Amino acid sequence: MRIVLLGCPGAGKGTQAKQIAERYHIPHISTGDILRSAIQSHNDLGKKVKEVVEQGQLVSDDLMIELVKNRLQADDCKNGFLLDGFPRTISQAKALEEMSGIDVIINIAVPEAEIIKRLSGRRIHLASGRTYHVLFHPPKEADKDDVTGEPLIQRPDDQEEAIRKRLMVYHADTAPLQNYYQQSSYQYINIDGAQEVQTLQQALFNILDSQS
Ligand code: AMP
Repeated sequence: MRIVLLGCPGAGKGTQAKQIAERYHIPHISTGDILRSAIQSHNDLGKKVKEVVEQGQLVSDDLMIELVKNRLQADDCKNGFLLDGFPRTISQAKALEEMSGIDVIINIAVPEAEIIKRLSGRRIHLASGRTYHVLFHPPKEADKDDVTGEPLIQRPDDQEEAIRKRLMVYHADTAPLQNYYQQSSYQYINIDGAQEVQTLQQALFNILDSQS
């Protein structure tokens, strides 16, 4: 199954994507995770994108399209994939159409006030991508990963100013994808992301089970 997950920052794409990828045995391709790990390892890509990512802006279409094109050619994508964080612009969506078919596009919709609350409390364990929230899903011990005990971090782009920037960028560049896909011949499903994580997960499984 080839799935594209859309939704504004903090909609819960990452959390849901992990569960979906596991259930359907497809790779979870998070462009945000790929960029963060490049930044972390100080490689060429990381150096190129660090500032842009940390300020909450978008990395250039050319760079992102090249990155995803290469990733989709890997063996593990033969039976499908789940894209999380790509496409983020109409140009990226058009490039994706040339790279691969898509079976379903799911948009997770969450009101903006809820988003700010969610993002500013988010903490992550960098090595595994495990995500916590200081109020809604706190770790067993404050600021430590439940599995490894390693420190959790707050993403620089989860600071309030960067969150506002990311939401502006989302509205300007990414939200238009909803209309774009709605009017396309692709199967497009809009789902309420304000519901509880487990309820949302079950709703997504029901949709995807009916596809496979
Ligand atoms: P995410 O984890 O999906 O919220 O992505 C974190 C950051 O990585 C974004 O705010 C952008 O700076 C960058 N990024 C991730 N995916 C893309 C993309 N498809 N196009 C441009 N920038 C991206």
